[in-house]
Amino acid sequence: MLIVMKPNASDDAIQKVVDCIKSKGFDSHISKGEINTVIGAVGGKAIQDRRDIELMEGVQEVLKISSNYKLASRTFKNDDSIIKVRNAEIGGNKIAVIAGPCAVESLEQLEAIAECLHRCGVKFMRGGAFKPRTSPYSFQGLGEQGLKYLRQVADKYNMAIVSEVMEASQIELCVKYVDILQVGARNMQNFNLLRELGYIKKPVLLKRGLSATIEELLMSAEYIMAGGNRDVILCERGIRTFETATRNTLDISAIPVIKKLSHLPIIVDPSHATGLRDKVAPMSRAAIAAGADGIIVEIHNSPDTALCDGAQSLYLNQFEELYGELKGIAPVLKREL
Ligand code: PEP
Ligand code: MN
Repeated sequence: MLIVMKPNASDDAIQKVVDCIKSKGFDSHISKGEINTVIGAVGGKAIQDRRDIELMEGVQEVLKISSNYKLASRTFKNDDSIIKVRNAEIGGNKIAVIAGPCAVESLEQLEAIAECLHRCGVKFMRGGAFKPRTSPYSFQGLGEQGLKYLRQVADKYNMAIVSEVMEASQIELCVKYVDILQVGARNMQNFNLLRELGYIKKPVLLKRGLSATIEELLMSAEYIMAGGNRDVILCERGIRTFETATRNTLDISAIPVIKKLSHLPIIVDPSHATGLRDKVAPMSRAAIAAGADGIIVEIHNSPDTALCDGAQSLYLNQFEELYGELKGIAPVLKREL
C-alpha cells in the first residue's frame, strides 16, 4: 500500500500516518519527491478498509499496489534514483562506465588496467575476488588478497570498486574494501544474501539471473530495499535462450521496460551477455542508445592469458576506443559521460 501525501502536508501529518500504519503492523518507507511525499507501507497484512487512512490529515490518496515490489516501483518513487558512490554517481543524467578484469589475478595486472582507466577518466573499476565458476576446478579468485589489491590500486587513482559477494558470510569482509557489492546472476535469488545486503550502508549491484524474469529481478531488488538499503543498481547481463551464437542473449528491451516500472538505475553487462570480445562494443553502444545508465565491461591487459573470461575481455586499446565512442554518443542522448 502506498500513501500519497498532499503537496503541502506537514511533517506532523506525515508522522501521524507513519505511526498509524506502524500500529497496523506495517514497516514504513518514506520517499520525498519534488511535489508529493509518498509513504510505502510494506510487510503488514492487507487492510480491508483503507478509509481510516484516507481520511487522515494531509493524505491525498491511498493506493493498493498489487505488484510484489513496492519500494522498487515508479509508483513509490517517480524520480530516477541517483546512487552516490565516493566522488561519482550512477543514475540520473550520468552514464557510468565500470570496467576491469573478470577476476583479480595480481597487483601488476590491476595496475596496468587501472592506469588505462585513469587515463580515460573512468571512475569505477570492477574485479572479482570471489569467483562463482561453473567448474570447481577453475580459478576461484584470490579472496581477501584480491580485495586488498583492488583497494590499493583504486585508492591510488581515486576510483570506486565493484566486486562480487557470493555469500552472506563474506559481506563483512567485502564491506571493508569494496564500494559497490555485486550480486552475481547465479545469486539473484539467494534470499538470505539479499536480506543481509538490505542492512548494509553500501550500494548493491544486482545482476539479473540467467533465467529470471524482469519482475523476479525487481522482487529481488525489493528484498534488499525492504531491509532499508535503497541503493540498488540493476544489471541486465543477458539471459539463457535457445540461441547458441552468443553466451547469453542480451535483452535490450529490458532497459525501457525496467525504466518504466522502476526508478532504480539499470546498467548493462555486454561481456557476460555475449561472451565474445567483438560483440562487446556494439552491444555497449546499443545499451546506451536504449537508455541504460551505464555499462559494466570486462577488460584485461593480456586477455589471451587471463585466468577467467579472456575471450570476452577487451584489450585495453579496444576499451579506449569504445570509451571514445560512448563519449560521442552521450551528448546526442542529452546525457553526460
Ligand atoms: C561477473 O561479473 O564476473 C560475473 C560472474 O557475472 P554474472 O554473475 O553476470 O555471470
Ligand atoms: Mn567474468
